[in-house]
Amino acid sequence: HHELCENQRSTEVLRAPVICVLGHVDAGKTTILDNLRQTHVQDNEAGGITQQIGATNVPSETIYRRTEMCREMISREGDFIVPGLLIIDTPGHEIFKSLRSRGSSLCDLAILVVDIMHGVAPQTIESIQLLVERQTPFIIALNKQYLEGMTFYESIYCLNSKVDLLYDWKSNNKKSIELVLQEQQQITQNHFEKCCKTIICQFAEQNLNVALYYENPDPNEYYSMVPTSARSGDGMGSLIALIIEKSQTTLSRRISYTHELQATVMEVKVIDGFGITIDVALVNGYLSVGDKILIAGQEGPIVTQIRRLLIPESNQELRTTNQYQNEDTIKGARGIKIVARGLEKAMAGLPLFVARQTDEIDFYKNEINIMLKTALNSIQLEDKGVYVQASTLGSLEGLLQLLKASKIPYSGINIGPVHRRDVMRASIQLEKDVLMATILAFDVQIEKEAQEYANKIGVKIFQNDEIYRLRDMFVSYRKNKKEDEKEKFRHLAVFPCKLKILPQYIFNVRDPIICGVLVEDGFIINGTPICVPSNNGINLGHIAGIQKNGEPLDIARKGSEVCIKIVSIPGEMPKTYGRHFDKDHILMSKISRESIDILKAYFREEMQKTDWTLIVELKKIFGIV
Ligand code: GDP
Repeated sequence: HHELCENQRSTEVLRAPVICVLGHVDAGKTTILDNLRQTHVQDNEAGGITQQIGATNVPSETIYRRTEMCREMISREGDFIVPGLLIIDTPGHEIFKSLRSRGSSLCDLAILVVDIMHGVAPQTIESIQLLVERQTPFIIALNKQYLEGMTFYESIYCLNSKVDLLYDWKSNNKKSIELVLQEQQQITQNHFEKCCKTIICQFAEQNLNVALYYENPDPNEYYSMVPTSARSGDGMGSLIALIIEKSQTTLSRRISYTHELQATVMEVKVIDGFGITIDVALVNGYLSVGDKILIAGQEGPIVTQIRRLLIPESNQELRTTNQYQNEDTIKGARGIKIVARGLEKAMAGLPLFVARQTDEIDFYKNEINIMLKTALNSIQLEDKGVYVQASTLGSLEGLLQLLKASKIPYSGINIGPVHRRDVMRASIQLEKDVLMATILAFDVQIEKEAQEYANKIGVKIFQNDEIYRLRDMFVSYRKNKKEDEKEKFRHLAVFPCKLKILPQYIFNVRDPIICGVLVEDGFIINGTPICVPSNNGINLGHIAGIQKNGEPLDIARKGSEVCIKIVSIPGEMPKTYGRHFDKDHILMSKISRESIDILKAYFREEMQKTDWTLIVELKKIFGIV
């Protein structure tokens, strides 16, 4: 009797858990989202936009229907106490990161999508780190079991024209994936197990224990994996059932509904007929038309009043037509759109507050200011670095984190469109490092005037709405620029060498000197200036030809015996073998402070460790500090 009461009590108080989808690019995040929400973003990414609110509610009726085949996975069978799921519409770990709520993550449970063929990939690792750091529980979807009626093994075997081996995959989205797998041919099962083993090892390398959900010995110790095929829908029922089970057990405390408002601004969007609106994840509490709300803005807190509360039209068929339904009051957890005045400078990623009494206005203003300040102050800027601009605090942080991981320093940041003043701030770098006089504009507009000014003074602006692409744009720009400069400086680069004269091979004693040498250390190329440090450092000239057995060489490394030609320095008296120097003198390249700096700046790839050691030795000989 007691337990029944417990159940009933929690039945009343649980809210929909907030679900995020993370994983490596192309793992199938969007497709999984589509399937969960029963939408088709992936199919027509370019044109149709099904995404209306930034978060989609999946009602419990839908969940009930979709988990029919594996209801046994839910321990409180027939008792759906979770009133639905609130699915964040944008996939990716940047979005996960960017949405805060009361200091912690907005997301209650994440789906980490792993392509079963590719396993754990770089962004999978980044996602894992974030999830662990934020202590967000997650379920792994091992996606892409099979391609359009084929197994993923078939797709491999197709290439090897062994289609017959595995042609017979029985795709089935009406059964639990455990059963579907059991019904496969042995060879398919073996392959599947092999892939799973690999992935389990890859997770172990990240210090995580994972197991297939139906083999999981202890859900508190092991993260569960569900094989899915987001496209055909196989395994999706099992995935949803697992989400429900997890929500109703380990997560039940976290997702118990409270009246205390917990809401996060997810997106700022212009909508025809409504002007600028904000999409909000209302997690706990309720919002009503007329409420006085406070949110973060680019120029400080914004105070305004809710004029309309919108949710998507309940009819699923209408999802593509951007139809909204007006509501007076909405209770969490739900994705909602708020229409209000004065949202022009609104910023996404931070909480929304309601001032129910006038004196609360100042209190929340202060709260927002502190949040903004802490967020921006916690960002460490470098003296030399690029200028980074993004649409929201969260997306800014996402990009900065990526830049950090990619060893790209940043010296300035801002939120919002790129103005002339940003270009001016970025131009400070022109004096420090021209390369860094660059603005990386993530998902923001560039004012015409700003672009013109940038062109004029030589500040480069890169714009993209994908952080990886934006980074890559800068990386390839930097590479090209370095290559160009390298070529410009090549004639000033002096590589280190130490040469021993081979007295039996003196072909010409003066202008040009032609003789055999053993490269004792370092390496020589055409153009290397040669001197004799042990005889007042006299300069012989530079190498104008290297040969071995009559064949010309571009380079001769340590240990090789070659014939070299040294031409004298124009305007200087040519030096003679046997008079100014002889076989007992060691020849070396004539380095200088400047030439060393150029090697360090542009020619590191051409230098080996021992070459640097030789540089140190030469520095001592030449007395370079
Ligand atoms: P995202 O970059 O992680 O969002 O990946 P997408 O959802 O855009 O998927 C990348 C590609 O993989 C798309 O062409 C999808 O159609 C495809 N894809 C996703 N899930 C599956 C699946 O289960 N099976 C197959 N065959 N293809 C899939």
